[in-house]
Order: sequence, then structure tokens, then C-alpha cells
Amino acid sequence: MPRPERDVIRPLGVCFLCSMPKKYKPSGAHAHLWADLHRATWEEPFIWISLRSDPEYSAVPVLFWMEIGVHLEAPLEALDFFLREVWVECCGHLSEFRVGRKRYLREPEERGEHSMDLPIFEVFRPGTTFTYTYDFGSPTVIDGKVRDVFQGPAVDQNLWKGVVLLAMRNLKPRMTCSRCDQPARYLYAGEEGGPVELRCGRHTPYGEGLPYVNSPRTGICAYHGPPPGILLEHNEEEPWENIRLF
Ligand SMILES: [Zn+2]
Ligand SMILES: [Zn+2]
Ligand SMILES: [Zn+2]
Repeated sequence: MPRPERDVIRPLGVCFLCSMPKKYKPSGAHAHLWADLHRATWEEPFIWISLRSDPEYSAVPVLFWMEIGVHLEAPLEALDFFLREVWVECCGHLSEFRVGRKRYLREPEERGEHSMDLPIFEVFRPGTTFTYTYDFGSPTVIDGKVRDVFQGPAVDQNLWKGVVLLAMRNLKPRMTCSRCDQPARYLYAGEEGGPVELRCGRHTPYGEGLPYVNSPRTGICAYHGPPPGILLEHNEEEPWENIRLF
């Protein structure tokens, strides 16, 4: 269920495509990335998508955001896979994309449900807005806006790997423990299982909290963050190292 309105934090983010050690507001991401994407000398057709979490469904009042590119011929499922890997996967719940009245699922069953096998270009056009929902029980909801087509890097079309380019992402906002002034490290529902609160290590009983991570799913179900190996720190010395394909 959506939670009541709270003051929402809109964290700054970094660009993985250039060497600018600058931090950007989510509202400034579009203007910044335009130049980066249109100066690229790559040659595959990609589509640029802005992703913004819906804070009403999160345990923390934060708008998490990313700017990504997806190969136009990749199946919609590749985007689902990326979102699961980087942002939401906890225990294999169902997910869907909703574009207008159309629903796209991995295994469509009913009328009006479509398959995620469809290539991105059949579902998304510049200007398309959509919603992605992961888990229909305790949902995490992400709003997407399709921006523009650009030339992206070469991909292995046999595997459909490396078809999602992570261009920008918010930095994890520093939050404070609800019981003291230490930085929050966990989300914990308390002995009585009340509402989830941000807690420091000292105010979280050992082994009981969920880690506070840079994801709209932090603190929900059994979410512990992305699998190891998904390094998403920004390397200012060697910006090329920052280019991440999924
Ligand atoms: Zn940039
Ligand atoms: Zn779960
Ligand atoms: Zn504390």
C-alpha cells in the first residue's frame, strides 16, 4: 500500500560517461546527459530512459533515480533483468511493465497481457511513459520516461548481454538513525514489528535489520542490495572504467 506523503529527498547523482566529478540534481540529469550521449561515437541504436522510483512505495523517503540506455532491439526482458540485478531483486517476485493500458510480463496469461520477449523498439518510443512494478505483494514502483534515441556501444546480440548502459545514478543519501545522531546503516522494524525505521548499528539488534542500501527496495521484503560484483562507485581518475554495461 502507498504510504502517506512525506518530505521526499531527491539525492544528487553522478555521471558514469564523462570525467566531470560533478554531482547533479535529478532535475538536471537530462540537460547534462544530452551532450554526453550525442557526442558518443558508438554505432548501435540505443534508447535513453529516465527512471525515477515512486517514494510512496519505499521504506525511506527518497527518490532514487537512474539514467540508462537500452539497445533498441533488445527484448523488454533485458530491462527487467537489469532493474532486478541493480535495484530490486530479493526473492524472485513477479514484475511487470505498464505502458498505458498494456501490461508486459515474463509469462503473460490473460487477455491484455503481453510478453517481455518483445523488442524494446516495439514497446517504447521517445515520449513514452511507463511504470515498472516489482513484486505485487510489497511492490516497488518505478516510473520511466523514454527520452531519445542515441548511438550506443557495440553489444553481443547472441546473448543480449551488455545491452543496458548505466549512464547516471543517484548517490546514496546520508540518513541518520531514528534513535541517535549516528549514520543509519540498517532498516529495522523494532521488536513489535512496527514501521520500518532507519537505525545505526548500535540501535539494531545483531542480525535483525536489513542493510540500508542505494535502492528503492531498501528495507522491503528480504532486500540486501545487489549481488557482489556490481560495483557502482564512481571512479574519477579513470572515467572510462565507469562505463557499465549489463
Ligand atoms: Zn557526463
Ligand atoms: Zn522478496
Ligand atoms: Zn542509533
